[in-house]
Amino acid sequence: NARPPAMAEAAMAARVPPDEDGDECLPQYRHLLSPDLLAGQVAFITGGGSGIGFRIAEIFMRHGCRTVIASRNLQRVSEASKKLMTATGQQCLPLSIDVRQPQTIAAAVDEALKEFQRIDILINGAAGNFLCPASALSFNAFKTVIDIDTMGTFNTSKVLFEKYFRDHGGVIVNITATLSYRGQALQVHAGAAKAAIDAMTRHLAVEWGPNNIRVNSLAPGPITGTEGFRRLG
Ligand code: NAP
Repeated sequence: NARPPAMAEAAMAARVPPDEDGDECLPQYRHLLSPDLLAGQVAFITGGGSGIGFRIAEIFMRHGCRTVIASRNLQRVSEASKKLMTATGQQCLPLSIDVRQPQTIAAAVDEALKEFQRIDILINGAAGNFLCPASALSFNAFKTVIDIDTMGTFNTSKVLFEKYFRDHGGVIVNITATLSYRGQALQVHAGAAKAAIDAMTRHLAVEWGPNNIRVNSLAPGPITGTEGFRRLG
């Protein structure tokens, strides 16, 4: 491409929307699908206080869904839930969990069921990531990402299965990534963790399908306006 760098940069800037700090609800929303598509349903969203999880919660709520947003930082999910309820008029229960600790997930699922009496959808969005070459990555750093992403997805799915989905069916969506498809540099930890989740998705879909549980992965590319993009983009 013979274009001078300044022109290429300007063209890029015109295509990429500006990155923003923090998570805010959309100033306006045009329904492409029925506004009450998810009316009466309840979604449990890990990592729902920020980034992609926050936006999933917002769109679900704009379609009539009540949500539980859960992550470690209770203040973060509490503030997010206020914004979501104000913008959408739906209920949103903020809860503190660490997806590495099954007992915290179990307590949160109990509380969610007490509040809403049902959970229809689980979004496994909680994750941790950073850029690091494999040569500089400590054993512990690799393990931590596997613990949050892979183990966290299994832990939360299994708790939901035992407490509700086994008997009532449900939908599980695991947020993964495209990092491992071509071996993205500086991402062996996240790529390996997400590839394992994609495998888990297929195993659980086969094993839990007969219980009327649908399990899928959703692998976004880089999404602007998210913590992930701010750190890695
Ligand atoms: P984000 O805003 O940093 O979301 C990650 C969330 O996970 C945070 O809300 C965090 O909240 C929560 N979390 C981290 N560790 C946790 C733990 N141990 N237990 C419970 N919650 C925990 O990042 P994002 O960029 O929107 O990413 C959301 C998902 O999309 C992730 O699975 C990510 O891998 C995936 N993804 C993102 C992109 C992108 O471009 N942004 C691209 C592909 C895939 P607390 O700190 O309060 O715990």
